[in-house]
Amino acid sequence: MVVSSSSSLAKRKKADALILPFFAGKKPAFAAKSLSTLFTTVLQSGDFTGKKKEMLCHYPKGAKEPRVILIGLGTEKELTKEVLRRSYARAVAFLKEKAKTVNVVLPETKEMEVTFAVAEGALLANYVFDSNKSEKDKYLSTMNFIDPDEEALKKCQKICESVYFTRNLIFSNADDITPTFLGKMAKELASEHKTLKVTVFGRNEIVKENLGLLEAVSRGAHEDPALIILEYRGNPKSKDLSALVGKGVTYDTGGLNLKPTGGMETMRDDMSGAAAVLGTMRAIASLGLPVNVIGVIGATENAIGPKSYKPGDVYRSYSGVMVEIGNTDAEGRLVLADAISYVQEKYAPKRIIDIATLTGGVVVALGEEVSGLMCEDDSLADALMEAGQETYERLCRLPLYEEYNDLLKSKVADIKNSGPRKASPITGGIFLKKFVGKTKWAHIDIGGTAFPDSLKPYQPVQATGVGVRLLTAFLEKLAE
Ligand SMILES: [Zn+2]
Repeated sequence: MVVSSSSSLAKRKKADALILPFFAGKKPAFAAKSLSTLFTTVLQSGDFTGKKKEMLCHYPKGAKEPRVILIGLGTEKELTKEVLRRSYARAVAFLKEKAKTVNVVLPETKEMEVTFAVAEGALLANYVFDSNKSEKDKYLSTMNFIDPDEEALKKCQKICESVYFTRNLIFSNADDITPTFLGKMAKELASEHKTLKVTVFGRNEIVKENLGLLEAVSRGAHEDPALIILEYRGNPKSKDLSALVGKGVTYDTGGLNLKPTGGMETMRDDMSGAAAVLGTMRAIASLGLPVNVIGVIGATENAIGPKSYKPGDVYRSYSGVMVEIGNTDAEGRLVLADAISYVQEKYAPKRIIDIATLTGGVVVALGEEVSGLMCEDDSLADALMEAGQETYERLCRLPLYEEYNDLLKSKVADIKNSGPRKASPITGGIFLKKFVGKTKWAHIDIGGTAFPDSLKPYQPVQATGVGVRLLTAFLEKLAE
C-alpha cells in the first residue's frame, strides 16, 4: 500500500473515492467551500446528519472522485481518538471492496492532533491476510491524506507496518512459524536495523544454560525450541533498560494433558505475545526511539510425544525454583519464568513487562475488549494503563494478593504450575511473580484480546496484533 499526501484539497490527485468528515448537526469538519456541490443535496435529504457511526456513500456526477463517503464523527466536544480511528476504519472497510485509491480529508479541530489517529484507523483497517486463499482479498492500494501532519503520518505508518508484521506472524501456519523461524525473523530485524543486536539459543544452548522449564516444555516436540534475545540500544548513554518478555508457544496441543477438540484449533495464536514483542522491537527501531529495550522470547511448541514432560513430575527452573507440573497445558508460565529469570540475571533491567496469551480464565473474566494487567508497582501500572487508554489497547488491573499463593502450593516441590479453576488469570501472575525478584514487573495477559472471534472496527477477526501499539506508546512516554 502507498501512503501519500497532498498539501491541499485543490492539489489532490484523482482517486476512486473521497472521505469527508462531518460533526453532528450536518457540520462539515473541513474547509467546505470548494466541495459544497459534493454534499449539499445529501444533507438536505436528511439521510445524513453527522452523528457518530453514520456513514453514507453517494455518487455525484462530474466529481474528481466517483464515490464520496460522508462519515459522522458526532459532536466536536465529544470527539476522541477512538472515534476518529473507528470512523475512518469503517469507511476504509467499506471502500476496500470497491475502490483502489482514496483521498482522505482530515477533520479540523482544536480538540486534538488528528492525523495520527485517523491514519491509524485507516491503515489498520486496510490489512488483509490472504496467503492461503486462491481468491485474493481486496484492499486499497493508495491512501492519499490531504494536508496531514507529515511527521505524525510517517510515524503512524511505521507503527502500523509493525502491527501488520505481528498479525502476519500470528495468522500464518504453526508449521511455518516455528521457534527457529521466530529466531530467523529476529535475525532479519537485526540485519535491517543497526541498533538491534540478536542472540538466538537453540536446543543445545538451552540445555547448557540450564533453562530447565523451557527445555521441559519443548521435549515432546519435533521442532527445536529457541530463546531469542533482541537488544535495542536507542539511548546508549543511559543505563535505563526495559525488558519485554514474550510467550512464544508456536503451537499448543496442551501436551500430555491434551486439549480437546474445540480447544486446539486456534492454538497457533499462542505465540501472540512473542509476535507482539518482535513487532514492538521493529517499531521502536524504525522510529529510532531514544530508549534501551531488550526483547526476550521463550519459543517452543507444546507438543505430545514419547519424550513429553509429565504431569506430577518436578522440574528445575533456571532460577533453581523446583516446579511440580500440575498440568502440562499451563506451559506458557514455565517458558516465561525461565525467560524472565534469565534476562534478570544477565541484563539486570530496571523493569520487566511480560506479554502472553496465558490463560483462558482472562477471557472468562474480561472478554475480548481488554487485556489483564497484573503489576504491584503503581507507577509502572499507571504508565501502562495510560498507554492502554491512549491506544485503546486497554488494560484492566487484577490483584496479586499473597493469599492467592496458597492456590499453587505443592506437596513435593517449591510451587505447582497450575491451580484450581478459580482466579486462574491471577494464579498465572502469582506463578510468574515467584521468578521476578525485586525488579519492577508487569504481566499482561492477552488471552482474550490477541485472537478474538468477532470483527472489530480496525482489527481483523483473529490476529489483532495487540501489544505492539500499547508497548510502543509506553516506551515512547518513557523516552520523554
Ligand atoms: Zn497451554
